[in-house]
Parts: sequence; C-alpha cells; structure tokens
Amino acid sequence: MAMADVPLADTLGRPVRDLRISVTDRCQFRCTYCMPREVFGRDFVFLPREQLLNFEELTRLARIFASLGVRKLRLTGGEPLLRRDLDKLVAMLAGIGGIQDIALTTNGALLAGKAKALAGAGLRRVTVSLDSLDDAVFMALNDAGFPVARVLEAIAAAAGAGLAPVKVNMVVRRGVNEQSILPMAAHFRHSGHVPRFIEYMDVGTTNGWRLEEVVPAAEIISLIGGQWPLEPVDPAYPGEVARRYRYRDGGGEIGVIASVTQPFCRGCTRARLSADGKLYTCLFAAAGHDLRGLLRAGATDQALREQIAAIWARRTDRYSEQRTRQTGRTPQVKPKVEMSRVGG
Ligand code: SAM
Repeated sequence: MAMADVPLADTLGRPVRDLRISVTDRCQFRCTYCMPREVFGRDFVFLPREQLLNFEELTRLARIFASLGVRKLRLTGGEPLLRRDLDKLVAMLAGIGGIQDIALTTNGALLAGKAKALAGAGLRRVTVSLDSLDDAVFMALNDAGFPVARVLEAIAAAAGAGLAPVKVNMVVRRGVNEQSILPMAAHFRHSGHVPRFIEYMDVGTTNGWRLEEVVPAAEIISLIGGQWPLEPVDPAYPGEVARRYRYRDGGGEIGVIASVTQPFCRGCTRARLSADGKLYTCLFAAAGHDLRGLLRAGATDQALREQIAAIWARRTDRYSEQRTRQTGRTPQVKPKVEMSRVGG
C-alpha cells in the first residue's frame, strides 16, 4: 500500500494534526517563568539569522506536514512578531492545501500595528498572553517594564481586524499572580474574548519550577465558579487542550489548561518545529530531530516526508503524564469555595 493510503499514527495511535512553528527564539519580554533574565541575559547568544528556517523552508515543511495530516498551524516563538514580514509567511502558509486554521500566540507588544496585515494575509485566530491586569504584577512578571494597557490595546486591535474572539493566556503561579484570577475573569466577562488560565508548567531546567507554585485548574474553576456560576462546554474538537466552561448567566466562556494536574498526553496530536528547524514530538522533549540539515542538503519532498513520518511513527512521548506520576502527588487544591458550587 502506498504511504499516502496509510493514516499516520504514533505508537499510541495518535495522528499528527497540529504543528507549532517557532519563527524566532528571541523575545523582548523576560517572563520569569519562561525566559528568566538570569538565563536569557545580555550574554545569551540567540540564533544567527542564517540558522533560522527561511519562509520558503518553513512553507515547504508545512506543506509536507499537511500531506501527513496536519490541519492547524500555530506560529509562536520566542515572540513571533519580532520576525520581520510575518504576514508574508502567513500568506504563504494560507496557500497550502489541507491547512484549515492558522493561529498566532503573541505577547501583544507589536500586535496593534500588525493585526490588520496578518488577518488580511489569512491569519484566523490569535492568542495573546497576559498574566495580570495589575501593572505592578504584570511588569514584575514580564521583567521588561511592559504595561497592561498596551496588551489590552493589542487585543482590541486584533478584534478590530476581525480576529475576535481573542484567547487570552494567563499562566497562574501560586503566590505570584493568583490574586489576578478573578479580576481577569471579571474583565473579560461579556467581552466576547476567552481568558484561559494555564497551570504553571515545568519547562525543563531554566525556570526553577516547583510543584508548590502550581495552582490546580480545579481550584481556578472553583474560584471563578463561586463568583459567577459556570458549566462545562463540550470540546470543540478531539484533543482540545483547554477545558472549556461558560458562565450560566451568558457572560461568555473561559478555559483552563491543566497540563500538570490532568495531563492530556493521550490525546496530544501536536508536533513542534523550532526556529532552527528541529522537529520535537512533544512540547517538553529535550532533543529534536534536525530537519534543516536535510532541507539544506537537498533532500527531496518525498525523502523529507518519509523521514518525518518515520519520526512520528516512533513517537512515544507522554512527558506530562510521566512527570505527574514521578512527582508522586498532585499539587494541593486550596478550596476558596466548594467544588459543588461550580456550575451550581
Ligand atoms: N511570546 C509569545 C507569547 O508571549 O505568547 C509566544 C511564546 S510563549 C512561550 C507561548 C505561551 O507559553 C505563553 O502564553 C506563555 O505564557 C506560555 N508559557 C511559557 N512558559 C510557561 C510555563 N512555564 N508554564 C505555562 N505556560 C507557559
């Protein structure tokens, strides 16, 4: 049977549906949980331009991934809007047969000026990161003196460009910004946008992650649901990362991403391409597979396709599940309201 006739699946039967493309390793923010200044300081050496995949290379790989089953692309980084002419890349990716959705995750700093061009090029959705509405807390977290108002302007500009509803990602850390959960929920009620509360994840050795700093999604839902009753919403598609809830009074929707307390490895259909062209089969994988070397050595589309398919077919990743098991416990839920009130 020809390869095209065999649906590609990994060792756990998971297809490849989503590709996260990192278009740069640089960011203007130094979020303490992601690119802390102690590690990503002045002396840190970012990738030189020639080591980044160029737009033709990225588009070629995306087309090959689409032929293997990928339907959704997400542009990320670093900060993706630091990559010049990103709208041109979006237009190139939008022309790929089979791609149904192109999304962007951004810190919002450069979004207001670029939203229209990106939407015009074919961007369908945008996720903006915002960890607090309190300037002091937000600036301490982004460690770049960037104010909340500019991110809110970016969200409004994205909506104005037709990219609403905007998803707003808030990483919650115990003792750091948990007091910002309710104000965040309140701000986006009735706005049409969707705040998503993310459990603080262990992303390797750089962020000094501690289980004690994780605020479990159940606690977040309990807290918000205690104020404004919530009910669960069915996933929009199989393998959806966020668990969705809506306010019973029609105030809109929120999401929680419980990658620590309720890992969703079993349904994970995401591959990740780093800015220098390495394929990672898990967000947390320590080692990637070099596709840039193959591209630049003149590999044919067929050879690249076979290589990528072979990597995916061998995929065994269950990092978050294993990590949760290894730590031997789940973070303590500190109930502020009774769980039974959620949805009540
Ligand atoms: N610079 C862009 C941004 O700020 O959205 C895109 C890249 S950023 C790494 C993508 C998302 O990952 C952001 O929403 C960020 O908050 C989230 N993130 C980074 N480190 C995280 C961690 N340790 N735990 C949970 N989420 C994290």
